[in-house]
Amino acid sequence: MKNKEMKNEREQTRVNLEEQLSPHFTLREMIASGKAIRLGIENVPTPEAVVNLRALCQNVLEPLRRHMGCVRVTSGYRSDILNGAVGGAKHSQHLRGEAADLHCSSLDQARRWYGFIRDNLEFDQLLLERRLGNGCCWLHVSYVRQPGHRQNRKDSRFVTAK
Ligand SMILES: [Zn+2]
Repeated sequence: MKNKEMKNEREQTRVNLEEQLSPHFTLREMIASGKAIRLGIENVPTPEAVVNLRALCQNVLEPLRRHMGCVRVTSGYRSDILNGAVGGAKHSQHLRGEAADLHCSSLDQARRWYGFIRDNLEFDQLLLERRLGNGCCWLHVSYVRQPGHRQNRKDSRFVTAK
């Protein structure tokens, strides 16, 4: 009996990685992590995080893709363990499925995408992050579903990481 109950619970919480969160983004893409694979960390989102990821894809990533072409997500949802492993902020929005890091091939491209999101889309926080050592840059963008929250905050800036 116990085993059966446990099995049912697993079935219910199992996520469908091929689920389309928006026309061009699947759940698999939003939870993929090379670091998690290397460390053997299961990066399984909560149902709440999936709802948040869907909102992020529909309101930010999909419109960005429509205007700019291919968008590659390097980090979306992070479980507690994964967030710790990558040295993420303690209350990172990645933990709730509200944030994604986007690969940028050049600073010029990063600036164009940054400007497009800042001027045209609803978001919570938008950071153009740049690492000093190698000049590598990426965009961190987040979206929060509560309307009140969005009205209170639309934070966009450049950040330089060590
Ligand atoms: Zn980030």
